Amino acid sequence: MPAEPGYWAIVPAAGSGSRMGATRPKQYLQLGDRTVLEHTLDTLLAVEALAGVVLVVASDDSVWESIRPRYAGQPLEVVNGGAERCHSVLNGLDVLAGKAAGDDWVLVHDAARPCVRRDDIRTLLASLDADCDGGLLGVPVADTMKRVDANGQVIATVDRGGLWHALTPQVFRLEPLRTALRQAIADGRLVTDEASAMEQAGYRPRMVPGHRDNIKITLPADLALAAFYLQAGTS
Ligand code: C5P
Repeated sequence: MPAEPGYWAIVPAAGSGSRMGATRPKQYLQLGDRTVLEHTLDTLLAVEALAGVVLVVASDDSVWESIRPRYAGQPLEVVNGGAERCHSVLNGLDVLAGKAAGDDWVLVHDAARPCVRRDDIRTLLASLDADCDGGLLGVPVADTMKRVDANGQVIATVDRGGLWHALTPQVFRLEPLRTALRQAIADGRLVTDEASAMEQAGYRPRMVPGHRDNIKITLPADLALAAFYLQAGTS
């Protein structure tokens, strides 16, 4: 009988977070008693199904070393990232390819989403079956959607039926995802999530309902909101 596929995680944390306007990358901003990245890592490392986590940091990262001792003895490997998120994730996949099976599941989760709920990660993993192409957490669009031209004028109202916000984690089998991301990058398509690369390769990822508090810290106001969600204790 073939072995059950394993589960791994990649955490891209090699961005500069320029939209935050802060002096350090957003994954290292303080959120209560820990940095954003530590919240994210602590949540993932508590998911029992995961065999290991690959953290992707910038090659000129000067903060991670001060945090690393907290994770001594944990199944955590650290690699350098690339120019865009897709390059960083591919670097993580290349490292995993040396120790995981090609059909193992790899969950990719932004370092900048510290409020993800452990239960949502479990739900996402539980949604996988032998026949599916992988999946991602998302939430349905709630607002009325407008298309705007270059002058800022509304030119259309877009039907929001069937529109979802794509969140992370996103989970796919190792080798299909690696091939799809490699191809996207080779074609100059700098995809902003894994599902895009998979869709363009012909796969049909499954959308799994998550929660709106799984925000990506992007702008300064997001930090206060994330602190509120973490204090509320849902994650
Ligand atoms: O910039 P954005 O918010 O889209 O980044 C999403 C995640 O991807 C962040 O956790 C960020 O650190 C990571 N990233 C990366 N390598 C890059 C750019 C972003 O790992 N070159």
